[in-house]
Amino acid sequence: MDVRIAKVRKEFDRFPALHDVSLDIHSGELIALLGPSGSGKTTLLRLIAGLEMPTDGRIFFGDIDASEKTVQERNIGFVFQHYALFRHMTILENVSFGLKVRPRSSRPPAGEIRRRAMELLDLVQLSGLEKRYPNQLSGGQRQRVALARALAIEPGVLLLDEPFGALDAQVRRELRKWLREIHDRTGHTTVFVTHDQEEALELADRLCVMSQGKIEQVGTPDAVYDTPSSPFVFGFIGESSELPVTIGSNELLLDGRSVGLPASSGTSGPARLFFRPHDVELTDDDAALAGEVTASRRVGGTRRVEIEIGNNGQKVEIDLPFDHPAGQRSRISFRPRRWRLFDVKPQA
Ligand code: ATP
Repeated sequence: MDVRIAKVRKEFDRFPALHDVSLDIHSGELIALLGPSGSGKTTLLRLIAGLEMPTDGRIFFGDIDASEKTVQERNIGFVFQHYALFRHMTILENVSFGLKVRPRSSRPPAGEIRRRAMELLDLVQLSGLEKRYPNQLSGGQRQRVALARALAIEPGVLLLDEPFGALDAQVRRELRKWLREIHDRTGHTTVFVTHDQEEALELADRLCVMSQGKIEQVGTPDAVYDTPSSPFVFGFIGESSELPVTIGSNELLLDGRSVGLPASSGTSGPARLFFRPHDVELTDDDAALAGEVTASRRVGGTRRVEIEIGNNGQKVEIDLPFDHPAGQRSRISFRPRRWRLFDVKPQA
């Protein structure tokens, strides 16, 4: 089901947690709400669920205005970070719960409920554990039960709030892959909250990057990673290095010297140059970025070095394809393969 969020504002005691947020969530997609702590991700999810009401704006489910509807009327599947399973119920009872408490008119017969719950336990690869209680499962298994329980009611929309946040890195990575597979098989419209950019890049069809109660950018993982729309998005999605440059008549300048990168036509003046540490090439060209290595550390399979550049002690980081001894100073010239320029806003 499509979900349309139209100019939604949410205030808590006059504190604006969301400012006029608009977002179209497409039927069947998995969209990640991504942003730092306090950016409004959970608030937006709770508004979609009906757990909070907007101060202003509307929320549509398909063509229906759901803004005034209750949680139950919205037919939402919800999974939270801290598995809210019923401790006194078996796994099978947990998964069946949402169907069992339906009004008699829409409740399937008991045999059908059991069959559906067993099918879902099979889908989440927990067949055989249906008679256990939640405290007899690992954290990762409990989150899989929570997902099966959310899917049992055949929700129009599935909402996941940091569902793997409390799990260790290895289990998290496994569940991420697994969730993507389940999504591809079941095709539910899914909204996934995370502050982990790697998780969002790997899992989602589209990312919605949020900051301070606003949407900064919405797009596919590739579009957001490769063409971030703002310095904030560049720095938040992936690693970044930044330098203050000047846009000259046809090239970029640092301290009045060409850095060997063309300037886009039509603009001039100060700008912020951003690039990814891994996306550079070494060069011996005179017109290039050059500086002294001041620090060096290992990052995964590469060596990341800090380079002091220009007259103002500005530092950037780049990855080297060879091992650079930590603590050794040497001069390096390089050029970003891809970069982005952002205007410097005039000070008010
Ligand atoms: P996190 O990643 O830490 O969960 P988030 O991006 O999900 O953060 P929200 O929980 O949506 O952020 O909070 C957004 C802002 O709204 C925060 O400044 C928070 O303090 C505030 N806020 C959220 N819920 C309430 C509430 N019930 N009462 C008052 N302020 C709230």
